[in-house]
Amino acid sequence: MVLSYGGYSTVVLIENQLNVLVKNKKNSTTSTASKSEQYGSHLSNLQKIQQKKQAVFAFPYNKKLLKLAVYSKCQGDNCDCMGWKRTDNSQISPTFTDPCRCEHHLETHILHLKDKPEQELNRLLGMVVDVDNMYVAINREENPETKKVYLYLFKLLRKCVLTLDTPIVEGPLGQPPFEKPLYS
Ligand SMILES: [Zn+2]
Ligand SMILES: [Zn+2]
Repeated sequence: MVLSYGGYSTVVLIENQLNVLVKNKKNSTTSTASKSEQYGSHLSNLQKIQQKKQAVFAFPYNKKLLKLAVYSKCQGDNCDCMGWKRTDNSQISPTFTDPCRCEHHLETHILHLKDKPEQELNRLLGMVVDVDNMYVAINREENPETKKVYLYLFKLLRKCVLTLDTPIVEGPLGQPPFEKPLYS
């Protein structure tokens, strides 16, 4: 199965799928929320994610680079640092010359992005927002199987931000244990 990464959020598509799976599983158990309530909260979640993305897309170009540095691999020689992390506890906004725990500057983490068109930065930032949402979803999810799927997607999206790839979801979602047919 391949999910295209157009304007629509991969996470939303996946959440839709998970909702169906979870619902199927919980068929016999009692559910307190009515269908319209579920639809309402899902819709507002959708809107929240879209609003968050629009806010990030409206950042100035440099602020986008600063945000992406946290999720981008250091371009320093032989450095395998996977994202800029501040070295102190200060709350002030980072600058390009701020040091990382890997001892390279923040700028070293976005050297490969500096010549990219803004559209590409927005695509990456869209995934970053999804990564953040996935992180929250992992921590709040209690069903261990759903958690596993979230974790898989979290890692996939995280990797795609690092490699500048487009996420392709394959295997786990389209196969059992989720949709094992009753007949064989
Ligand atoms: Zn480094
Ligand atoms: Zn670093």
